[in-house]
Amino acid sequence: MKTALSDRPDVLHDAPHALWDIIHGHHPAPRHFRVDVDHDGIAWLVFDSPKASANVWNEETLREFNHHLETLRHDTRVRALVLRSGKDRIFVAGADLKAIRRMPPARVNDLIWLGQAVFDRLARLKIPKIAAIHGACLGGGFEVTLACDWRIASDHESTKIGLPETQLGILPAWGGSTRLPRLIGVGTALDLITSGKVLGASAAKHAGLVSHVVAPENLEKLARSLIREKRPAPRFNLENLVSSLIGRLAKKKAMAKTRGLYPAIPKAIDVVTHAAHGDIDNGLKLERDAVAELIQSRDTARLIDLFFKREDASKRPPASGTPIPIHDAVVIGAGVMGSGIAHTLASRGIRVLMTDVASDSLARGLERIRGLVSDATRRRLVTKVQGRDTLDRIATTTEKVPLTRHHLLIEAATESMELKKKIFADLAARVSSDTILATNTSALSVAELAQTVPHPERVIGLHFFNPVHRMPLVEIITLPETSPDVLATAITFVQKIGKTPIVVKDSPGFLVNRILVPYLMEAVRLHTSGIPVKDIDEAMLEFGMPMGPMRLLDEIGLDVASHVAKTLAEAFPDRFPKSDVLDKMVAEGHLGKKSGRGFYRYENGREIAFTAAPPMPQHESIQTRLALLISQEAMKCLKEGIAGSADDIDLAMVLGTGYPPFRGGPITFARDTSIVDY
Ligand code: NAD
Repeated sequence: MKTALSDRPDVLHDAPHALWDIIHGHHPAPRHFRVDVDHDGIAWLVFDSPKASANVWNEETLREFNHHLETLRHDTRVRALVLRSGKDRIFVAGADLKAIRRMPPARVNDLIWLGQAVFDRLARLKIPKIAAIHGACLGGGFEVTLACDWRIASDHESTKIGLPETQLGILPAWGGSTRLPRLIGVGTALDLITSGKVLGASAAKHAGLVSHVVAPENLEKLARSLIREKRPAPRFNLENLVSSLIGRLAKKKAMAKTRGLYPAIPKAIDVVTHAAHGDIDNGLKLERDAVAELIQSRDTARLIDLFFKREDASKRPPASGTPIPIHDAVVIGAGVMGSGIAHTLASRGIRVLMTDVASDSLARGLERIRGLVSDATRRRLVTKVQGRDTLDRIATTTEKVPLTRHHLLIEAATESMELKKKIFADLAARVSSDTILATNTSALSVAELAQTVPHPERVIGLHFFNPVHRMPLVEIITLPETSPDVLATAITFVQKIGKTPIVVKDSPGFLVNRILVPYLMEAVRLHTSGIPVKDIDEAMLEFGMPMGPMRLLDEIGLDVASHVAKTLAEAFPDRFPKSDVLDKMVAEGHLGKKSGRGFYRYENGREIAFTAAPPMPQHESIQTRLALLISQEAMKCLKEGIAGSADDIDLAMVLGTGYPPFRGGPITFARDTSIVDY
């Protein structure tokens, strides 16, 4: 009969010291877990790290967890184990990445060993084991539950389940890559692991990650009733018999999409497809070997750094000022952006009044929102009830109603200074003196707009990106006179709606568009000098951009791009050359994708190049040239203090444009490649 991995000297001959400590009975004082064995013999093991908002796995918590498992194993009263969290919104957030970041690779490998051994011990406990998941259950947090017999989840919106490791350049290596395909089949496991997708409770149940979803208060009752049932037998997944075929197809698809730039993905595919059957220990070894290799890569280090930058920007409280909580907001303009903003706010619990001058625009805006909600419901990103609540929070009007009750107004009307000035002057007369007036302008001067109202210190830019529900970045544009409370409120508000705020100065193009324009205009120049659009786009796709610059221009709309480029050319005449190429195309009615023709032709939603591209002409030099321009402008913005730090600029470009995250952002890229003087 097999015993736990950590009891088996054959597997352990090259195990790290930490494991030997466990085997020889290292007994840490209980700190992170509470254990209570009730009169039914159920051991309630509650993970609740002191003075921390999240539970994470590190050497200390793993050792203590192991110690409790060991004690329970010998406790004859215990006939079942339920693993829970004592936190409000987090089950287990995953591995302690902060600790991992400081570790030399050899110690990371030890930690992998330790986690595998401890979770294996859990898996081999003979009593029924249930993970009752409430809150974020990510990475190692989900892997521990895979060692249980049942996973049940609360239907709370904080419950999010997934294995996002590949997004950090690594892969699930505490049994996740081995146990998940056995639970739900190789195909779905690969989809989850390679995308790093995080699912809400209902989607998690649909994918087979959990067996039941109930209200948080019913988790305990459900756990008690499951214990009385027969334990689920290991599943037999027919598709796992052909896992190598599924793996080959997945790899082909992934390579086409990522162009081999994210080595963790093909590695994860290899491990999952080989670990899906046979001996668990072999799977665990494959996981260990893969992480040992990936953890040494610079790209992985950059991805982990970027993760922390984003965490910091998304959670850091404002440096000064007192934020006002925003429960109601007004959105002016129900176009593409206004309706997108209204939808995002309402889906995050904020009541929205959406206004427009035209009732048909308002109707179209509402229709777009309904479409977004039904799409999200269909994809199980939200439940039907959540979707209905989102719609219920949105009211609309074309009337000039008093707006004194609202603390925040976001103007997203047509891009015209004259129009926006009128709107601001009119709004200022209808709001109370402490209302924040925000504009979503792409390129107009926020300072000029602020002059039209009696309280310019309450004016701010909130620059959302299109499509709002998908784009995680919001540039917050400040003026020298912006009140600290207004800025603090804007930062906290953006964080509350689940976006990442980056504070920037009011300057033409703000940050992201300013950095993007020289790159896009240089791409146009390369094209007019004779390089086919397809080659330019291919070169930047190979660099890791999600879309080439010519396609991006078509997507933005050549009229809009030309307008932003002109604003910048006027502001920086020595550096942003005027170009009439876009204007000529616009004059001929070629506006890009929306008119069916721009740098590409569009038929049935697909782009078609006008000329067939010759094979691989000069991709590298195109890449260097265009990447250089991005980094150069980013450095200029840093020197001019447009954003607070190099980290902010890097993060904004990754989140706002999809700049390849494994390169760390344009300033990190400049520093790491010496492409520009740093
Ligand atoms: P849009 O043309 O889709 O919508 C503009 C809406 O404003 C229309 O519904 C129009 O009826 C309405 N409107 C016009 N005058 C109004 C008034 N006086 N009061 C109320 N509503 C009025 O435009 P959009 O793409 O949603 O852009 C809106 C703003 O967002 C612009 O400032 C634009 O620069 C900015 N922006 C756009 C994008 C983008 O990619 N589309 C991205 C970021 C920012």
